[in-house]
Amino acid sequence: MDRIANAIGDTVAPSSSARVSPVFNPATGEQVAELPLSTVADVGQAVAAAKAAAPAWGATPPLKRARMMFRFKELLDRHAADLARAISREHGKTHDDALGEVARGIEVVEFACGIPHLLKGEYSRNVGPEIDTFSDRQPLGVVAGITPFNFPAMVPMWMYPVAIACGNTFVLKPSERDPSAPMLAFELFREAGFPEGVLNIVHGDKEAVDAILDHPDIKAVSFVGSTPIAEYVYARGTAAGKRVQALGGAKNHMIVMPDADIDKAADALMGAGYGSAGERCMAVSVAVPIGEETANKLVETLIPKVRGLKIGPSTDPDAEMGPLVTQTHLNKVLGYIEAGVAEGAELAVDGRGFTLQGYENGYFVGGSLFDKVTPDMTIYKEEIFGPVLSVLRARSFNEAVDLINAHEYGNGTAIFTRDGDAARAFADRIEVGMVGVNVPIPVPVAYHSFGGWKRSLFGDHSIYGPEGVRFYTRLKTVTTRWPGGIKDGAVYTFPTMN
Ligand code: NAD
Repeated sequence: MDRIANAIGDTVAPSSSARVSPVFNPATGEQVAELPLSTVADVGQAVAAAKAAAPAWGATPPLKRARMMFRFKELLDRHAADLARAISREHGKTHDDALGEVARGIEVVEFACGIPHLLKGEYSRNVGPEIDTFSDRQPLGVVAGITPFNFPAMVPMWMYPVAIACGNTFVLKPSERDPSAPMLAFELFREAGFPEGVLNIVHGDKEAVDAILDHPDIKAVSFVGSTPIAEYVYARGTAAGKRVQALGGAKNHMIVMPDADIDKAADALMGAGYGSAGERCMAVSVAVPIGEETANKLVETLIPKVRGLKIGPSTDPDAEMGPLVTQTHLNKVLGYIEAGVAEGAELAVDGRGFTLQGYENGYFVGGSLFDKVTPDMTIYKEEIFGPVLSVLRARSFNEAVDLINAHEYGNGTAIFTRDGDAARAFADRIEVGMVGVNVPIPVPVAYHSFGGWKRSLFGDHSIYGPEGVRFYTRLKTVTTRWPGGIKDGAVYTFPTMN
């Protein structure tokens, strides 16, 4: 069993905590690792290391910082399969899905390699007589990130490559459920040549998070996780005077218009609804077919596909979906299926009772499909975060748009149609941060920015991309006027500013 330690400065740092947390392999239910639940003192040690490294790192030319980022990217590429295995072992997602996660994380590192260009400022000559002004984005100092279990490698990489390229030093608190992938990335980061203290990792739970939120030397916090915690982190972090971007949960709808290709829409729903066992913040969890005929065709097409899902451990190359992350989460998802039945939704495919020979202790559940879900039901209102797709039948495009706009979450959404007018009106009117047109999971590429609306994001900045650069820097505007100098010839009197 692995004993995972904090990584502070140059060394693996033992925690002063007596509390530990187990890490499980969700496919087998076996404990594979143990990590410390760090104390306020541990966080203080990590922040001190980051603070000591900050002045020199902030003064390092951006081009040099970028060159280290290039080396980090090369190492990540070389070790992508190792990272994917580390993810799958503790998260449960299939190997190919984990490779996809690593690739999307590396794209942010690639973006961060362009930092010299991204930090270029603005310059105005002669804003007044012989007066010039320039604006420049400067690092904040020590910044921190707190990340969820569902993308243990990628979500930290949404944060620290951009923050560090901008000249900040970083303290990361990864999810306590799957900490090995961020630790492996940390080793590669150090191998790339970054100085000690630039990136530090502290494991833990609420105690470590609160210590980060309260620490006066941390200037900004990026958080990704569930909405109640995101809201808490935002409130406590901003009360302590920090910049906070806190990304929360989601309930992503996909409208299927009557003119859509039903097979393509159904395939898109399968990937977006059941991929990664539904444990994605951009998973589609509600399909909204327009009109009874579209709904009937869609449900008929989906049922055999959901029944036929290939479920298995990440070591099975044919598996399309793995287990859920923990026994607690499995119980929660099963509870939602029961609630849906109790509230009168039609359970068209029941994933309860699924077992896999040889993996009886794993946290597996079959794909489930609810039809005739209504907006008042718990399974519609709340984020399930499992392989449970709800079909909510709408009579018209306008009804579907109103429905989505009325939901408390506004992370992602999509429309499947061949009609440009409907697609354009959808993109215009929908109150959601990330919109797909015939694209079911519209996660923006690394050189755009990722962020939801409403209760899916607290704070003003989306994450990574140009918004990430803005979040991790502050603007300085310098206005200069130079008195007459040596160009005017030698002056033999004692110099004054007159
Ligand atoms: P979570 O909120 O339980 O945990 C996220 C982080 O917060 C972890 O590091 C955890 O240790 C910490 N934490 C947990 N409870 C805390 C508490 N009481 N006080 C302080 N810190 C606490 O989320 P999760 O279960 O790890 O991840 C799943 C959630 O993340 C889903 O809701 C999903 O939608 C969301 N998510 C959102 C995005 C996005 O970009 N919007 C991306 C990925 C995941």
